[in-house]
Amino acid sequence: MALGEVAVVAKVGKGLFIGGKWVDAVGGKTFSVEDPSTRSPLCEVADASIEDALAALDASHGAFEAWAATPPRYRAEIIRRAYEIIMARSEELALIMTLEMGKPLAEARGEVAYAADFFRWFAEEAVRIDGRFYVAPDGNSRVLTMKQPVGVAYMITPWNFPLAMATRKMGPALAAGATVVLKPAEQTPLCSLALASILEEAGLPAGVVNIITTSDPAGVSEALMNDDRLRKVSFTGSTEVGKILAERAGRRLLRVSMELGGNAPFIVFDDADIDLAVGQAMIAKMRNMGEACTSANRFLVDSKIASEFSEKLADRMSHLNVGRGTEADTNVGPLIDQAAIDKVTSLVSDAVANGAAILTGGRANLDDGYFFEPTVIVGTSSNSAISKNEIFGPVASVVTFNDEAEAIDLANGTEYGLVAYVFTNNLSRGLRVIEALKTGMVGLNQGLVSNAAAPFGGVKDSGFGREGGFEGIEEYLDLKYVAINHRA
Ligand code: NAP
Repeated sequence: MALGEVAVVAKVGKGLFIGGKWVDAVGGKTFSVEDPSTRSPLCEVADASIEDALAALDASHGAFEAWAATPPRYRAEIIRRAYEIIMARSEELALIMTLEMGKPLAEARGEVAYAADFFRWFAEEAVRIDGRFYVAPDGNSRVLTMKQPVGVAYMITPWNFPLAMATRKMGPALAAGATVVLKPAEQTPLCSLALASILEEAGLPAGVVNIITTSDPAGVSEALMNDDRLRKVSFTGSTEVGKILAERAGRRLLRVSMELGGNAPFIVFDDADIDLAVGQAMIAKMRNMGEACTSANRFLVDSKIASEFSEKLADRMSHLNVGRGTEADTNVGPLIDQAAIDKVTSLVSDAVANGAAILTGGRANLDDGYFFEPTVIVGTSSNSAISKNEIFGPVASVVTFNDEAEAIDLANGTEYGLVAYVFTNNLSRGLRVIEALKTGMVGLNQGLVSNAAAPFGGVKDSGFGREGGFEGIEEYLDLKYVAINHRA
């Protein structure tokens, strides 16, 4: 590691952040964090046991009543200060992110700004929590509704957006007056730990946010979710784990938000601006090395323009530089681990064995880290494994269609329903197709939908609940209705 890299990693707290203090895990247990671009260890962080997790829950529960009773403006100003500190420390946070997760620095800077934006947005939303007052239809009583914070919320985040997934949950929870126990992914705990120091500096009272890193996510989650003091679980991660957690939450009727996997169709009609579609395809596919739930997973292209689109895309992909994210000319960093490399390699081999052809890329490069070449494959069957599974890597797979009805059928032919992308210059067609798509989000002539001011989330196996936008704060508010006898 370069000296600057050692320095930023050294600065991050490596303990558990509980009740406003940095503490060791019981027994002093730790686990190792690795740089996926070199496969060498970066540092050790505390490995929380169930006992530690329950201590975090104690702290969060103990802080709840006072935090819930704070004036919204007070909460807003702390969240806003945290936004400002994140932006001021953007370079440092971006480097930490690149080191633990692999994405190129330019993308890491983008994620830092995106992550901070959830704090800016929800600082603004904290002072707009509303209710209603109206006359009941019979004219006799009055209806009053009010919103109150849900209580202690447990948040589990994935490794692919290590800072933004934390702020996307914490921003609305803190604005609502809820308190937090956050468990980041094992592979990328450092961004969340850095965030703890930022919240401390912003003036967040002790115990309102607690962060536990652990190598036992199942055991810790089970213990927290079985405890009566917990009221809410917000999870971002795979559909497989999301289903386990939703079932567990069901036993205690916890409130639940689930941001799960995707299998996004990227539909290009023959009336689309092909160069625009190719440019946006590069974003929808290659942001985060393809390791995004919103990543374009199936390029569904009208057979009349499929060759032109695929060749232009392959040309752009073949000019990308693969390398360590800290290098200035790197466009594509490593995948997260060997399991990711094995999965992507096997999906590509299976597609080729079933008749697809590789236009560019196709191989892993494991000289240093977990690298995979930017890849375009064409002639893919809609029934192949690569069309049915989340690729989570830099592979664009092109399937052709012959008419609008077939495009819609193919797009909806998946259990996932997170996002779809539609490229057409015909507005009527665009709206018709969008209405027929079974997804929570659609990008129209746009390959990026993420925006702190918009409700992010899916349907079907992609989960439920929304993060960001006006809707995001509702996930952390309970609604109370009061029937008022105004004549009493
Ligand atoms: P994952 O394996 O489900 O892990 C996500 C988080 O869950 C990690 O913190 C993990 O901890 C924890 N976890 C794993 N097993 C658990 C269990 N049995 N009980 C409780 N927690 C458990 O997913 P991933 O591979 O890290 O992330 C990629 C997935 O996330 C993809 O499917 C992607 O589409 C999805 N994702 C969705 C969104 C969205 O907004 N819809 C956004 C980003 C990513 P450990 O790290 O310790 O295993």
